Amino acid sequence: CGIVGYVGGQSALDVVVAGLKRLEYRGYDSAGVAVLSDGGLAAAKKAGKLLNLEKELVERPLAGGSVGVGHTRWATHGGPTDVNAHPHLDNAGRVAVVHNGIIENFAALREELAERGHTLDSETDTEVVAHLLAEDFSSVGDLAEAMRLVCRRLDGAFTLVAVHADQPDVVVGARRNSPLVVGVGEGENFLASDVSAFIAHTRSAIELGQDQVVELTRDGVTVTDFDGAPADVRAYHVDWDA
Ligand code: GLU
Repeated sequence: CGIVGYVGGQSALDVVVAGLKRLEYRGYDSAGVAVLSDGGLAAAKKAGKLLNLEKELVERPLAGGSVGVGHTRWATHGGPTDVNAHPHLDNAGRVAVVHNGIIENFAALREELAERGHTLDSETDTEVVAHLLAEDFSSVGDLAEAMRLVCRRLDGAFTLVAVHADQPDVVVGARRNSPLVVGVGEGENFLASDVSAFIAHTRSAIELGQDQVVELTRDGVTVTDFDGAPADVRAYHVDWDA
């Protein structure tokens, strides 16, 4: 339902949780975050209001980092439980992904992954993406390229945002039939399903086109199509009050 991604000099957790609050008006049944720090990835997710997640983060603080993702979920596949909440991780806990929309061919992909020895914990359509990204990342060593390979295998509507502990300076996003906007800052960049998530930080935005993948670093925004062909992007100024 609501997605936020961040890479920059601030606490990713603070930016992401504040962004999720700005997206609360959309409605949701659970929420979660993942942050990269010290070569690892830490995640927290809770059914119910964002307040439940915030309490969890007080009781079990995550190590601080400056790259992270967050999600508020409106369940379509699997009930609103802690396990089904996003982010979803691969079995090694190296990749985290959040997703809006529906992956229609998830059942076939689950079966395929199970045959290759993956254990899936949730009932969501989303979790397959974390496992597929982990597999492709281990062969290509680049999260944006892994995302392009995975997206070509997915049917349905999706906005996806992912991070990988082995490429700790990037956030990658992708979209098909579901919105994704880049917020362009100075020494920091944002991804969100809606500009209101980052408007407190920047009013420079790039709307991602259909079937595009974006790679964000602190200082760069690179957009391609699902085959890797570079796309022209132009930032616009968000001049309304979100
Ligand atoms: N289909 C996904 C799920 O049920 C994502 C739902 C959403 O858009 O929040 O977990």
